[in-house]
Amino acid sequence: MNGLMMSYPLALAQILDHAYRIHGDKRVQTVLPNGKMHGYTYAALYERVKRLANAITKLGIQRGDRVATYAANTYQHLELYYAIPCIGAVLHPLNVRLSAAQLAQIVHEAEDKLIFVDGVFAEQFEEFRNEVGCKRIVGFNLMPTDTDASYEQLLREVEPTYTWNIQDENWAMGLCYTSGTQGEPRGVLYTHRSMFLHTLAVNQADVFGLTEADVVLPLVPMFHAMAWGLPYAAMFAGADMVLPGSKPTCLTNLIAENGITVAAGVPTVWAKVYPELWKRRRDISSLRRLIVGGEAMSPTLIEAYEKDLGVEVCHAWGMTEMSPTGTFSKLRRAHQNLSDAKKWRIKAKQGRPVPGVELRLTTETSTAFTELPWDGETIGEVQVRSPWTASRYYKSESTTEQFTTDGWLRTGDLATIDAEGYMQIVDRAKALIRSGGESISSIALETALLKHPQVLEVAVVGVPDEKWGERPFAVVVLAEQAHKNISDALKQQLAAEFPKFWIPDQFVFVDEIPKTSVGKSDKRSLLAQLVSQNLLG
Ligand code: ADP
Repeated sequence: MNGLMMSYPLALAQILDHAYRIHGDKRVQTVLPNGKMHGYTYAALYERVKRLANAITKLGIQRGDRVATYAANTYQHLELYYAIPCIGAVLHPLNVRLSAAQLAQIVHEAEDKLIFVDGVFAEQFEEFRNEVGCKRIVGFNLMPTDTDASYEQLLREVEPTYTWNIQDENWAMGLCYTSGTQGEPRGVLYTHRSMFLHTLAVNQADVFGLTEADVVLPLVPMFHAMAWGLPYAAMFAGADMVLPGSKPTCLTNLIAENGITVAAGVPTVWAKVYPELWKRRRDISSLRRLIVGGEAMSPTLIEAYEKDLGVEVCHAWGMTEMSPTGTFSKLRRAHQNLSDAKKWRIKAKQGRPVPGVELRLTTETSTAFTELPWDGETIGEVQVRSPWTASRYYKSESTTEQFTTDGWLRTGDLATIDAEGYMQIVDRAKALIRSGGESISSIALETALLKHPQVLEVAVVGVPDEKWGERPFAVVVLAEQAHKNISDALKQQLAAEFPKFWIPDQFVFVDEIPKTSVGKSDKRSLLAQLVSQNLLG
C-alpha cells in the first residue's frame, strides 16, 4: 500500500529558495584578488543566480549539459554552484591544480559545453585552452578581454526572474573528479536527491552542526569533493559564509576580522597555521570548530587545537564518491570522564558513520566478502552504501574492484571499527607496506612520529627491498631548531609502540613534502623524488 504523502522532489533550488526567504539578510564575504573584501546578502546572491540561470540558458546550455568552472572559492563560484544545477545542467568544478594534460582529458571526457574561468587563473587556463577544443568560455573578475563574454555583462543583459523546474530528483546536478591520489581521476555524477540528502545529513547537530549563528569558512577548494558540501549546507542552515578566494591571505586576520566560527580544510593547512594562530589566540576566540578531513589528522595536532586554542576538532572521513561525507568523529557523552589522552585518541579516529551511511568491514575470500567483527582490532576493507554514495563512475562500466555485486562501494581503505562504531583508517589498501609477508601501516607510523616535538611533517612510504619485498622509509620535515641527527631518537620512539620490523631503516630529512592538488601528501611524487635524488638505500 502506498503512503499518502506529497511527492516532493528533493532539488537544490529548495536550498536556495529557503536561504533567500528565511535568511535573505545573511552574508557572503569574498576575499578579492586585490586583498579587499566583497560582500553581499543571500538576497542579492539570489537575484544574481536567477540572472545567471537566464544567461546560461541564453548561451545555449540545455538540461543535462555539463558546465565547468575553473575558479577559486568566490561568490561567483557560489552563484554557479546554484545556477547551473537549478536549470538542470550539470556543474563540473575543475581542479585548478591539475596539469594541462589531465584537465584536457577530463574536460574531453565530461564533454563540457561551457567553462566559467576565474580571472586569477586566466593565464594558466590559456595553457590548456587550445587542448579542450572549441568551448564557450565566460570569464569573471580580471579575465582579459579576449574571452567570449564577460560574466557581469551577461548578467546585466538578462532578467532577474526564472522559474526552477526540476521534477526528477534523480537528475544529475554535479560532476566531480577524484583528486587522483592513487591513480587517474575518476568522475562521480551526483544527483539533486543525493546532494540534498547529504546536505541534511551533514547539518545534523552531531555532524557539521552548522546553525544560523555560524560564520563558515570553507578553505577546502570548491573543486575538491564539492567543497565537502559546505556551499549547500551553510546556506541551508542560514550561516554567513566567508570565501577565501585564491590568494594566500593571513588566515588569522580572516578569522579575527570576520568572526569565523567554523572552518574546514585538510590537516596540512591546520598544521601550517597553528603557530600563527597560537601567537594570536586571543584574536581568534570566535573560532569554535574545525572540520578536518582528506587525510588523517594526528592526535598531537588535535590536542594542540583543543587544549591550547580551545577549538573543537572534528575529524571527518569521506571520498568524492560519497559526496563526500562518510564518518565524523565526535566524542560521546560516555567519554566525558576519560583522560585527555584517551579523548584525543578517540577524536583522532575517523569517527562514526553519519546517520544514513552504512559501513561494513570485510575480507575477500575466493567467492565472496566476509564481514569482520567491530572489535577495534580486526583490519578489513571498508565498504559503504548510502543515498549519497556513487553506484558507478561516470562513463565507465562498474567493475567488481570498485563496487560489489551486492551494491556496496569498495573504498580501498583499510580500517578497524570498534564496538562503539568508531572507524580508524589504517591505510589505503594500495599504500599498505608489505614487508616479509606482513603489513605495516604508514598512517600509524606517521601518527607516532608526529608526536615527537621536533617533527613538523612526515610521510612514510614503502620502498622496494630485495630481501623483504618492501621496507618502510620515513621522510621527515623537522622544526627549525631541530638537530638533523635525531634518527635514533625517532627510532626509539617508534620502538616503544611497534614491532621491530615496522621501524623504518632510514630517515631522510627534507624541507618540504610534496602535496597533491588538494593538499594531501603526494607519496607518488615523493617516491619519484627519492629515486631521482638517489636517496633510497
Ligand atoms: P583521492 O582518492 O584522489 O585522494 P578523495 O579526496 O576523494 O580523492 O580521497 C578520498 C580518500 O582520502 C579516502 O578513501 C581516504 O583514503 C582518504 N581520507 C579522507 N579522509 C580521511 C581521513 N580523515 N583520514 C584518513 N584518510 C582520509
